[in-house]
Amino acid sequence: MTLTTDKTASKKKLGLKERYAAMTRDLGWEPTYRTPEELFPYLTYEGIKIHDWSAWEDPFRLTMDAYWKYQAEKERKFYAIVDAHAQNNGHLNITDARYLSALKLFLQAISPGEYAAHRGFARAGREFAGVGTQVACQMQALDEVRHAQTQIHALSNYNKFYDGFHAFARLRDRMWYNTVPRSFFDDAMTAGPFEFMLAIGFSFEYVLTNLLFVPFMSGAAYNGDMSTVTFGFSAQSDEARHMTLGLEVIKFLLEQDPDNLPIVQGWIDKWFWRGFRVLGLVSAMMDYMLPKRVMSWREAWNIYGQENGGALFRDLARYGIRKPSGWDDAEASIDHMSHQFMLALHHWNFGTAFHTWIPSEEEMTWLSAKYPDTFDRYYRPRWEHMRSIEEQGPQFHNFGLAKLCQVCQLPCVFTEPDDPSTLWQRETAYQGERYHFCSDGCQQIFDNEPEKYIQAWMPMQALFSELEGNVPAWMDWAGLINEQDNLNFHGSADERNFSAWRGLSTTNTTNQENPA
Ligand code: FE
Ligand code: ZN
Repeated sequence: MTLTTDKTASKKKLGLKERYAAMTRDLGWEPTYRTPEELFPYLTYEGIKIHDWSAWEDPFRLTMDAYWKYQAEKERKFYAIVDAHAQNNGHLNITDARYLSALKLFLQAISPGEYAAHRGFARAGREFAGVGTQVACQMQALDEVRHAQTQIHALSNYNKFYDGFHAFARLRDRMWYNTVPRSFFDDAMTAGPFEFMLAIGFSFEYVLTNLLFVPFMSGAAYNGDMSTVTFGFSAQSDEARHMTLGLEVIKFLLEQDPDNLPIVQGWIDKWFWRGFRVLGLVSAMMDYMLPKRVMSWREAWNIYGQENGGALFRDLARYGIRKPSGWDDAEASIDHMSHQFMLALHHWNFGTAFHTWIPSEEEMTWLSAKYPDTFDRYYRPRWEHMRSIEEQGPQFHNFGLAKLCQVCQLPCVFTEPDDPSTLWQRETAYQGERYHFCSDGCQQIFDNEPEKYIQAWMPMQALFSELEGNVPAWMDWAGLINEQDNLNFHGSADERNFSAWRGLSTTNTTNQENPA
């Protein structure tokens, strides 16, 4: 046997594309002793037709080993900064303690949604027949559970010092404003796999994520909250992947069969409106809760809704997709929704696990400038009226319970798109019961699937049926500590403690002079 020194390797190192195929699609196999129908029983009942699963292209070609490497690196950076934040009393660097209301809302309403998305993607990954799709869903399921974890860890630091963070998981299930995002995710998770992908992958990630994450994360940066900024950065590259996946899903469905178009359009209509209603919480946060504002809700909508969303639907027009049916109603609501919702939150603030307050004169000037057609005309007089009541005595509270929308679960506090003086209320009679809705969009969603939505668990009805209208018992049950988590920011322990602690860190006062 002669040895040759110049022998070329018989097997080249795999190229990126081949390596991706080997690490993803080649992991699948053809079933032999079960039929595809037995293995994937949920693929057909929604009416979606897929002819060729291999046509699914993952735009990132991310293999599992690379995925773990990237994510581990991000985790290391994230926890280093969160630790530094904790050790250096980073919580005292925020603009002022009113900012914490935005964080409490985020932790109660949004982080559990990340966890729900994780469960949903894990299930969807099991239910799809294509290996490319399965791998993409598996990665997104892992991303989402990581988002829930990093958010909870980042915010746990605030829980050591401030009220309203301690029972976020229970609050999420039982608190009236948190059942808005809860019901959004419950609705998606109980839908078929294709509808789930469209609901979360497309409507939530692609159409709405920018309107949700950008305001919260830039809000955190503007207000000195290092630990929240850090989880935002850590999630950002995942979000880019999720948005691309969402768009890929919709194109895949539309390219597979023309019969898919009307089904997909129906889901776009439904999930746009459901997502838009969840954004009611975000609009109030942006316009009212951030001591240092990033931009108004109207400005965010112009950029991320009108411009980006508009371009997206123009792009999808070649497949026959049109803008969501609720688009014009959404546009007509933008200049009203944050004010209407925040006024409601304020007069129901005995039942919120965060503090609210009347905007200061300077903040009202900002709101007038950002909403020249609506704020001074409709909302400033209401705030000023509430302020004059507060100046003379206790704050005005509305102890009447809200009528909730059977679909989005928001209280019916919004007005008709073309008439800001009339509440937007719709009603459908179904099997001898009357159901209420906040809008045409929600009524249409109900009317398409009444059997689904009559089963919805409604927090206000639970107060009467399970707790006989006993508000203190309801607070215990929901995880709300009265006179601690709720009510006006002014006079709260959060306000007192923050100014005392910040005073200690920036002046020479001592504990005795300035007791917390
Ligand atoms: Fe996420
Ligand atoms: Zn509704």
